[in-house]
Amino acid sequence: MPGAHNVADPTHSWIPHMPLLVVGSVALDCVETPTARRDDVLGGSCVFFSYAASFFSPVKMLGTVGEDWPQEHTRFLAARGIDTSGIEVIPGGKTFRWRGRYLPNMNDRETLEVHLNVFGEFKPKLNGSHKEAKFVFLGNSSPTTQLSVLDQVPAAQLTVADTMDLWINIQRDELGELLRRIDGLVLNDSEAKLLAEDENLVRAGHAVRKMGPKFVVIKKGEHGAMFFSEHEMYVMPAYPTPQVLDPTGAGDSFAGGMMGHLASLGRFDPQSLKEALAYGVITASFTVEDFSLDRLASIDRGDLDRRIADYKQMLSF
Ligand code: AMP
Repeated sequence: MPGAHNVADPTHSWIPHMPLLVVGSVALDCVETPTARRDDVLGGSCVFFSYAASFFSPVKMLGTVGEDWPQEHTRFLAARGIDTSGIEVIPGGKTFRWRGRYLPNMNDRETLEVHLNVFGEFKPKLNGSHKEAKFVFLGNSSPTTQLSVLDQVPAAQLTVADTMDLWINIQRDELGELLRRIDGLVLNDSEAKLLAEDENLVRAGHAVRKMGPKFVVIKKGEHGAMFFSEHEMYVMPAYPTPQVLDPTGAGDSFAGGMMGHLASLGRFDPQSLKEALAYGVITASFTVEDFSLDRLASIDRGDLDRRIADYKQMLSF
C-alpha cells in the first residue's frame, strides 16, 4: 500500500524500534544558492535529523525556540509522529537563525550570519520519557551541552554525536572529553582534518577514532561518506541525483537516516552499521533535491526503499 510506512509506527511488532532521542538546533534558515533564495524556512540540525529518522523509527526531539517560532512548524513535525514535547518555547526569546550561501559548485558554502539567540542559553532538561532513550544523537551544539545530555541518559546503549569547526576551535578540551564518552562521531571532511591536524582523510579518520569513539563517520558531501572502526574502513558513494537545489541539512538527514535505521533494528553490529550508512546516504539524497524539508515532505518510505534498491544495484559488481 503506497505510503503505508510514511510515519514510523511504534506498533509494528516486526521491528524492535529502540527509543531514539535527538538534541540540537531548531532553526529558521535563510538560504541563498546561485539561482534561488529562501528566507526564514524551517531548519536546524535537530529538525532535519528528526524528520529523516521518522521514516524509520519513532523519534523524540529536544530543542529550544523563541516566541517568534511559527507553531505550524511544530504541528508539521508532530504530524509525522515526531514527539515534539521537548521543544521548549522561551517567552520573549528569539529562535536560532542561520544564513548561508552556496558557491556555484553547490557543495561548499559560507555562513553569512549566525544568531544563536535562545540556543545560546540552551540547557536541555530531559523528562522521564526522554531519559528512557536507548539510542541518542547529540546533534550540532556545544560539547558542554552535549555532555550535559549524556549525563542524563545513563541507560543509553548507543550514543552518537556530530560536531563542527567552531567547537573544535573553541572547546577542544570539552570535545576531547565528549569523544572519550560516546560510541560514534559523525563529522565532515574538513572538520576531521582540523580535529586530527592531518590533511590526509584516511589518517585523520583513524586518528579521530583513536581519540575515543568506537566508530567515526566522515561525511564528504557530494562524495559520500567514509566509515572507520578498529577493524574496518570503507567508503560509501553519494547517490548521484541530478537535481541539487539546496544541500542544507544533508548532513543531519544523513545522520537521521543512519540512526533511524539502527533504532528500527535495535542493534548496531558492523553489518547493521554498513546498511545504516546506506540509508543515511539515500535519505540525504532526497533532502538536497529541494529547499528546507520540502522534498522529504513529498516522499514516503516506499520512495526511500526504491532508491536504496537502486543504490544497492549500483554498488554490486
Ligand atoms: P547541515 O547542512 O547538515 O550541516 O545542517 C544545516 C543546518 O544546521 C541548518 O539548518 C542550520 O540551521 C544548522 N546550523 C548551522 N550552524 C549551526 C550551529 N552553529 N549550531 C547548530 N546548528 C547549526
